[in-house]
Amino acid sequence: MRVIKYVTGFIAFIAISAAANAENHSEDKAGRPKLVIAVSVDQFSSDLFSEYRSTFTGGLKRLASGAVFPSGYQGHAATETCPGHATIMTGVHPGRAGIIANNWIDLGVKRDDKTIYCAEDERIEGTSFGSITAATQGDYVASAWHLLVPTLGERLKTLSPDSRNMAVAGKDRSALMMGGNTPDMIFWWRGEGFETKQGGLMLPALAKFNADLKTMLARPRAPMAVPAHCEARNRAIPLGTENAVGTYRFQRPENGARIFRASPDFDAAILALAAKMVQDERLGTFEFTDVLNIGLSATDYVGHAFGTGGVEMCINLSELDKNLGQFFDVLDEMGRDYLVVLTADHGGHDLPERLQQQGAPKAQRVDAKLNAKDIGVQVKQALSLTGEDPVLYADSPFGDYYVSLALDADTRARVKAEAIKQIRNHPQVHAVFDGADLAAMPMPQGPVQEWTMKERARASFHPDRSGDFIVLLKKSVTPIATAMRGYVATHGSPWEYDRRVPILFWRNGMSHFEQPLAVQTVDIAPTLATIIGLDVPQGEFDGRCLDIDGGVEDSCQ
Ligand SMILES: [Zn+2]
Repeated sequence: MRVIKYVTGFIAFIAISAAANAENHSEDKAGRPKLVIAVSVDQFSSDLFSEYRSTFTGGLKRLASGAVFPSGYQGHAATETCPGHATIMTGVHPGRAGIIANNWIDLGVKRDDKTIYCAEDERIEGTSFGSITAATQGDYVASAWHLLVPTLGERLKTLSPDSRNMAVAGKDRSALMMGGNTPDMIFWWRGEGFETKQGGLMLPALAKFNADLKTMLARPRAPMAVPAHCEARNRAIPLGTENAVGTYRFQRPENGARIFRASPDFDAAILALAAKMVQDERLGTFEFTDVLNIGLSATDYVGHAFGTGGVEMCINLSELDKNLGQFFDVLDEMGRDYLVVLTADHGGHDLPERLQQQGAPKAQRVDAKLNAKDIGVQVKQALSLTGEDPVLYADSPFGDYYVSLALDADTRARVKAEAIKQIRNHPQVHAVFDGADLAAMPMPQGPVQEWTMKERARASFHPDRSGDFIVLLKKSVTPIATAMRGYVATHGSPWEYDRRVPILFWRNGMSHFEQPLAVQTVDIAPTLATIIGLDVPQGEFDGRCLDIDGGVEDSCQ
């Protein structure tokens, strides 16, 4: 019996009896892997990958010894978690997948709350997403019903119904967008433990897993050690009068479940649960290929709470590398034949206060007046409109803006034109695109790094869900007007720091190569589909198969 300690001195998450589990299964005759593992590291930009690559010694080093595409692209403009996860296992752009943003507005929905969360089912009466801040989050039913296309695991089950399609993630939207509408098992973190979707199948061991986690979180946690390569980043960046980031080492008080998400322990727990799923459900031990989708969310929470340039991100990536390494070691001990792809749902950008000190003097926070409410008031004044009701709606300063449906057609057109004019004049705005123009465009083709801003916006545009117009901010404008505890930096822009993510494929025995030319996250599903023998009709993917063989053989044949 070998006990795997995921977090040193912390808790033994898994006890694996290697002998009992290392089933002797020879490779599939067609060379297909028995288990496909798709890992999304939330907010893991190409910039972070290249900055830290030389420090990796564990799981990320292993993956970087396979087929490496350092310039993968989430090509679309709305570089948020939900659209990003929706591209990875569907092979289509978010506009086609129907996942245009994390949240959008539906002024036609019956309920009072017009904000739609990408991974909720708003058709269920009495439910509400509430606010985007977790503290006031409403009672919604998590669902992938907005996802209009099948995921790879779902496609696989049409070929081999006995294949399993599983998902586990820190966020419900990550698990749902990778797993799809009909996963066999799906888990995500909510408040005090991992839970499944309404009516979802439970893992028998989950109750004990959650109980162990709860016990662990009740105890205080000592600060993590600072690795030598992180020392230079260990420097406080003041934010306002009483707040600072840059030196936090993930210590927690007793009952610190609330801040556990923004720490490397979170991903350790997700990986421990993933390993448990592989073990208990015997994934990768039967005749057909199984798919396990894993959404590692800690890097995103760390990025939002502390930025990408401090000691926090440095420690986090060091721990992620270690935890992924242990996860793969466990799979090896179980004797599984698995193919891994690791990528990210979007990149990220550091907080302006540190960027300004580090060679990016123009980095700034968005003007607090740039929002639908304030612009709407100005539009009403300019057009001499009366009445109390807002004329404009949006969930954030950038992205989708909607014109009130309570206005007559002529007034709606005038409001839209005036709002576009005013927002275009704002010094922090790069471009505003009329939704009607985007709807008339085809999905962009050609080299993704050369797409125009309009093409990027088109890739995350869906005519029935997207705004009446789309606002893109200038480079290095952080769309958080005032830094708050837990939310100082973000992503979501059409700029390279948010679009570029690594794409790494690894399987035991695979030869290493590196392809610096740009590829896309929508290429992942077609690449995996060919390898596992799935025949997908022409035109159903927006991406293309990548030959990851590295030699004269072609994995796309
Ligand atoms: Zn994300």
